[in-house]
Parts: sequence; structure tokens; C-alpha cells
Amino acid sequence: MTPESNLSTIAYIGLGGNLENTLELLGSARKAIEAVPGVRELAFSSLYRSAPMGPVDQPDFVNAVMAVETSLAPRDLLKALQMIELSHGRVRTDQRWGPRTLDLDLLMFGLEQISDQWLTIPHAGIAGREFVLYPLAEIAPPHLAIPGMGILSDLVSACPRRGLEAIGHD
Ligand code: AMP
Repeated sequence: MTPESNLSTIAYIGLGGNLENTLELLGSARKAIEAVPGVRELAFSSLYRSAPMGPVDQPDFVNAVMAVETSLAPRDLLKALQMIELSHGRVRTDQRWGPRTLDLDLLMFGLEQISDQWLTIPHAGIAGREFVLYPLAEIAPPHLAIPGMGILSDLVSACPRRGLEAIGHD
């Protein structure tokens, strides 16, 4: 069976970065994700700009969320995302909130809940992060149940925008 033959799970992927060329990087990452065998794009949100968390002396962040249908196992999808991060020149540093070329997070994988040394699903940073919730709400059903966290529309209502600004489609 090829990875494409059984596209059955809907997964949501968060994309972000805060370097000068982030818009191009996110476009390129989107194409790379779409090209992974066993992954098909369903929707891609607007791009959203937000002020950086933590150290302020760095460019604004740009974030988006992509919905895909996949036949891959969660950990294989995570590995594919990590390869794409590396191929886009991500350099891991000790600075937690420092500049990063490309950050790809597996936000949700169907209704699965996973917590092991490699993977936490749903991603721990969904609730309370405006730059995740608002793009997610643009492309996911409002009644989407995020396991262990609540209903998407409730989470969005409880989360201030904090200056988050939609800057249009890729
Ligand atoms: P970060 O530097 O924030 O991108 O974190 C990367 C690390 O988080 C990697 O070691 C991943 O194995 C781990 N991780 C755990 N859960 C997730 C997830 N849902 N999406 C992406 N990375 C995850």
C-alpha cells in the first residue's frame, strides 16, 4: 500500500517564523508539506503577524495553519515536518524564544491524544495562543473538539487577539 492510498486522518499543522524572508519560507514549507507522500493539503489559513514573545529585539512573527489529510502515522508526519524544518535552514539554539527560520508544529492529529518523549498531541501550545487559535479557527469547523482542551470556538472566544493581524493569503 502506498502512503497515498489511505488518506484518512485530518491533521493541523502550525507554521511560523520570524526572519526577514518568512513569507517566502512559509510558502516554500507549504509546498514541501504538500509534496510529502501520503499528505494532501485541505486548507491553508491567512498569514498572521504578531509581536514576538520574549526577547523583543527581533522581527515580528508570521504564523499560519495548514489542514492536511494524511495516511502517515503521527510520528512519521512529525519526522517529515522536522526534515522540512532542517531543509529550510532551521538552526536550533538554546534561546527558547529566539529568532527561528521555520517552526513547524503538529497541532492536532485527528482526535488522537499522544504524550510520549517525541510527541505531544494535541500540541500543548494550542490553547491560549492567539497566533495558533485564530488561523486554526479560519480553516477548521468552529465546533472542533480539541481533546483535553475544549471546543475551538470557546478557546478562541477566551483568547484576546493581542495585536494579532491577518496579513492576507499566501
Ligand atoms: P520546538 O523547538 O518548539 O519546535 O520543539 C521541537 C521538539 O518538540 C521536538 O523535539 C519534538 O519532538 C517535540 N514535540 C513534541 N510534540 C510536538 C508536536 N506536537 N509538534 C512538534 N514538535 C513536537
